[in-house]
Amino acid sequence: MSANQLGKLIVITGPSGVGKGTLVNLLLQAHPHLKLSISATTRQPRPGEVAGVNYFFLSKKDFEAAILNRELLEWAEYAGNYYGTPKAPVIEQINSGNYIILEIELEGARSIANIFPEAKRVFILPPSIDELEARIRDRGTNSEESIAKRLSIAKKEIAASNEFDFQIVNDDLDNAIAQLETVIFKD
Ligand code: ADP
Ligand code: 5GP
Repeated sequence: MSANQLGKLIVITGPSGVGKGTLVNLLLQAHPHLKLSISATTRQPRPGEVAGVNYFFLSKKDFEAAILNRELLEWAEYAGNYYGTPKAPVIEQINSGNYIILEIELEGARSIANIFPEAKRVFILPPSIDELEARIRDRGTNSEESIAKRLSIAKKEIAASNEFDFQIVNDDLDNAIAQLETVIFKD
């Protein structure tokens, strides 16, 4: 693997509700040659989520087996569930010279920085904490307990945003997309 190929490994991190999924979906629609890594998780599917498309939904036992079998490039515990990146598809994309995007939380992004220092790591920031809370609530898919957990984790994640190569504020969506495109496609 050359450093050039690893520059096509893009890590996108940011607090829950900041709009990572929205940004990534728009990017993939506009640039079909970008590939998104599909993570494994032990959390329950949200309404509308499809197994194998949004996530691979695994039992705790199966997730722990995947860890033991070294099938995950990185994994972390987040708000009471496991999340991890299946290793084989990412390595295959890198070896094929393709762009591959990982949308993962802070601990996972730190692990990737250790494994692949040449990866481009982008942190998506909300315009404010109040706006972040409003977006999580408007999405309407989290319980009060889960919202509180996510907001508490968000504050810690935002405090670490300067560890990342790039920071983008997702205020105006078009503007945030344009900035992401610049980061991904510049050398
Ligand atoms: P994440 O994947 O980071 O958890 P989502 O993509 O699910 O976040 O977005 C959370 C909510 O915020 C969604 O309802 C989405 O429509 C909304 N949203 C995303 N980006 C913006 C933006 N720039 N301005 C206003 N609302 C946004
Ligand atoms: P959600 O439950 O909102 O889909 O995701 C919760 C958090 O887990 C988000 O910050 C998301 O980026 C992160 N996440 C999703 N997949 C992975 C993964 O494979 N690894 C890690 N470390 N985090 C992930």
